Amino acid sequence: MSEFNLDNITRTNIKKLVPYSSARSEYEGDAQVFLDANENSLGSLLQQNFHRYPDPLQKNLKEKISAIKNINIENIFIGNGSDEAIDLLIRAFCNPGKDEILIFPPTYGMYEVSAAINDVEIKEVLLTDDFELNIPAIKKTISDKTKIIFVCSPNNPTGNSFNENEIEDLLNSFNGIIVIDEAYIDFSDKTSWLEKLNQYPNLVILQTLSKAWALAGLSIGMAFASAEIIRILNKIKPPYNISAATQKLALQVLNDEEKAYQKIVIIKKEKAKLSEDLKAFDFIKKIYPSDTNFLLVKVNDATRLYKYLLTKNIVVRNRSNQPLCENSLRITIGTPEENVSLLQALKLYIA
Ligand code: PMP
Repeated sequence: MSEFNLDNITRTNIKKLVPYSSARSEYEGDAQVFLDANENSLGSLLQQNFHRYPDPLQKNLKEKISAIKNINIENIFIGNGSDEAIDLLIRAFCNPGKDEILIFPPTYGMYEVSAAINDVEIKEVLLTDDFELNIPAIKKTISDKTKIIFVCSPNNPTGNSFNENEIEDLLNSFNGIIVIDEAYIDFSDKTSWLEKLNQYPNLVILQTLSKAWALAGLSIGMAFASAEIIRILNKIKPPYNISAATQKLALQVLNDEEKAYQKIVIIKKEKAKLSEDLKAFDFIKKIYPSDTNFLLVKVNDATRLYKYLLTKNIVVRNRSNQPLCENSLRITIGTPEENVSLLQALKLYIA
C-alpha cells in the first residue's frame, strides 16, 4: 500500500477553494472605528456586548486548550460540536458518489448520517461478539475508495476502548485518514492518542466539551491533527462557527480545570456504584465494563423495561436495534440522587 499523502486524498474542489475572507481578518493595525462588517454599531440590548462578529479562529479559546492538552494551536480545530468536525472531514476528503468511509458498528450514529448527507458510501465491519475490532475483516474491506476510517474509542454505545496495537496497526497500514473519536476519553484510565499525534500524519483525534466538561449546551468539539489537516478544516468551516458567547463561556469553564476533574471523579465513583447495584436485579443479564460516563446493560426485555422506566419519568437509551446490542439499554450516569431514583424504579419493576 502506498504512503499517506494528504494532497492525494484532499478533494480537488477543496484544494482549489478560495475561502471566505472575514471582514476583520483583512486589516492590519490598531483600528478603533469598525465600519467594515455591517454590524449594528449601536450595540446590543445585552449587558455584555455581542454586536461584533466573533473571532473566526477562536484564538483565546485555543490558547487555553493548547495549554491544557499540551498541543500546539496550529494542531487544533474547534467546531460546533465534534459533529461539525465529522461533517467537515467527510466533505474535505470524500468525493460524493465515489468514495467511502469505514465504520465499526455498533458505534456513534453521526459518522453514518454525515456520510449519507454528503452522498458518501458507508462500509461497515461489525465489531466482534466481545466488542473488539475485527482487524482481518477490516483489512479485507479497505479499498482504494476508502478515505476515512472512524474509530470511536472509548466506543459509544459499547463503552469499551479498543486495543491500542490494533489501532496502531491500522494507522501504519491505511493510507487514508483515521479519525479516533475520544468523546469519552476523560472518563477512561487509558491514555489519549494525543500523545502520538505527531507520529501519524493521517491521524485526527476528536474530543468534545460536551461530556466531561459538562458543556453539551454550548456544543464545542475539537479536532486535533497535523497543521495541514487543520488548515483544510479551517478553510471550509463557516467563518463564525463558534459564537462569541460560546467562546467566552467555554473559556470561563476551561479556566477552572479543577472543578471539571472533581466532577469526573464523582461520575466514575457513581458508575462503579451503579454498576455494582445493578447486579442485584435478575432481569439484568449483563453489565458491560465502561470507560465512559454510561453503562450498557443487557436485560431480558429492553423495550418493555425502557417503556416502564418512562412511566417513572426516567428516560434511558434503548440500543436494542443496534447490531450486537439486542435487548440492551444505555444508561447515562446521573447525579447520585438520579441514580438512586433509577434503582428505586428498578426495584418496583416486575420482570
Ligand atoms: N462522538 C461521540 C462518540 C459521541 O457519543 C457524541 C455525542 N453523543 C459526539 C461525538 C458528539 O459530540 P458533540 O457534542 O461535541 O457534537
